[in-house]
Amino acid sequence: MAARTRWFLFFAALLALLPVLPVPEFWITQLNYIGLYATVSLGLVLLTGVAGLTSFGQAAFVGVGAYTAAFLSVNYAISPWLTVFIGLAITVVVALILAAVTLRMSGHYLPLATIAWALSLYYTMSNMDWLGKYDGILGVPAMTLFGMSLASGRSYFYVIWVVALLAAVGVVHLLDSRTGRAIRALKGGVTMAEAMGISTYRYKVLVFVLAAMLASISGWLFAHFQRTVNPSPFALGKGIEYLFMAVLGGVGNVWGAFTGAALVKIVEEQLQDWLPRLLGSSGNYETIVFGVVLVIVLKYAPEGLWPHLEKLFDRFLPSRQRVCDWADAAPLPERSKPAAGELLLDVDKVRKQFGGLVAVNDVSFQIRTGDIVGLIGPNGAGKSTTFNLVSGVLSKTSGQVRFRGEDVSALSSREIARRGMSRTFQHVKMLPDMTVLENVALGGYLRSTSGTAKAMLRLDRAEERQLFREAERQLVRIGMQDQMHELAGNLALGPARMMEIARALCTDPALLLLDEPAAGLRHKEKQALATVLRQLKGEGMSLLLVEHDMDFVMNLTDRIVVMEFGTKLIEGTPAEVQASPVVRAAYLGTEH
Ligand code: ADP
Ligand code: MG
Repeated sequence: MAARTRWFLFFAALLALLPVLPVPEFWITQLNYIGLYATVSLGLVLLTGVAGLTSFGQAAFVGVGAYTAAFLSVNYAISPWLTVFIGLAITVVVALILAAVTLRMSGHYLPLATIAWALSLYYTMSNMDWLGKYDGILGVPAMTLFGMSLASGRSYFYVIWVVALLAAVGVVHLLDSRTGRAIRALKGGVTMAEAMGISTYRYKVLVFVLAAMLASISGWLFAHFQRTVNPSPFALGKGIEYLFMAVLGGVGNVWGAFTGAALVKIVEEQLQDWLPRLLGSSGNYETIVFGVVLVIVLKYAPEGLWPHLEKLFDRFLPSRQRVCDWADAAPLPERSKPAAGELLLDVDKVRKQFGGLVAVNDVSFQIRTGDIVGLIGPNGAGKSTTFNLVSGVLSKTSGQVRFRGEDVSALSSREIARRGMSRTFQHVKMLPDMTVLENVALGGYLRSTSGTAKAMLRLDRAEERQLFREAERQLVRIGMQDQMHELAGNLALGPARMMEIARALCTDPALLLLDEPAAGLRHKEKQALATVLRQLKGEGMSLLLVEHDMDFVMNLTDRIVVMEFGTKLIEGTPAEVQASPVVRAAYLGTEH
């Protein structure tokens, strides 16, 4: 058993003992609140910490869960074990509507929409007769389980904490999975993720809905804990407080949600006690203190408090290095390989205009299976733009791209990736907080299928082993197996570029597109890169190599397309290109 699991079980056992020990009622109640809050802020860890999306509306989702439970159990005597699902269903519908309206738009619309949602739900709860207006709904029954009443705080403690810890374990499992890697790519890796075939929109919707569901479950628990609901705990201010808990505890970490919830609850209680005594009058002064604390935390510990706590435990915890137990895992499925010499890529008069600037002017070229084609030209010639037109990142002004006989001109980069074209980026795009192995495993996304539920329940392990086996295989292929457990962010430029190639290979591509792989590399790194590319050619891989360094492509390519000012100058063998006076003029004219 992993040491982290042992620590978790130790703390869980400790918690389980508390209600039977002579712990004062006050602390049991505090812990109950902490469990309820942590469940909500767990959702924010996913949404804000991991995916980089902000919501001020979590309290409103708590309200949906709480009001649904209260309304149905008071008016229709429906069992809480049923109302939780009804509450979740309503929550999912609301979350999906909000997500559909805002998530396709850029950054700031989601936070704004969640504020609007929080305000409108608050006014609905406060003004509807059937929801009891400001008085809310009274007389919510206590939960029962197998005929046993859970009316006391001590017994309900177990319900709250079982839910909170299961949710936490689910989220931990989720983050360490195929789905989790896709979610972790949402913050800062969208273009890369799309190029690996991941629908980032779909995963944004997913995390938003998951976070809302956690809030709703907390609300359901809350209704049967307080035995009454009224609008005030679900107002916008509380939504901000949940966000504050997540940020304070450490928004990027599951256990940060618990740290934040505990701190806010305990400190809030003490402040409500002490501040009026100190200041001689009552008021919500604790809000001001929390505001100041938040500013200090954001300045001095922007990662929140959990990472610092974790450091204290560090010597008891082993490194996060994976146990490599996938040697016997089945290989991932492979796509049918194009026949040698088959016309693979047919770029036909593609054109791109940026306003008045013709960046790519009716450029045509072809790649057959097994070819290494170089696309060269001085800076600003239009190479990257051509590359982006081929790979679907940019839309064409006119022209056509056919890949394996299919017109892919109108397809997105994700759809093109699905068809077997994989790429690297001129400026390395990776997830620095993930290991090299995990980054490469992202490339295997389309060759695997496990989803959210499977990941949370840890039923995805066989496929995970397949994915890691493939990722390791690709790292071995390019000679990087020694670095597979390093954090990608610690890699130098050369290895980082190699890692991108391994990630692209992990997609099982029929055609590999490399955008300036040698730029910025030292001589030795360039040689290593050339060796790998030659080896790939030897294995039958087809490559389009965009380069500005003419020497690098000379010894490597079968054919070279030369561009200048958006236009194709000539196309020929390296020898022909080298001998061409036009090419020499183009390069002399700009830099050499
Ligand atoms: P290369 O990769 O060969 O150095 P690019 O394809 O990046 O050249 O750029 C070709 C031309 O198109 C340049 O003049 C560049 O300034 C222009 N360009 C590239 N991207 C854009 C853009 N998004 N908007 C406007 N102009 C652009
Ligand atoms: Mg470029």
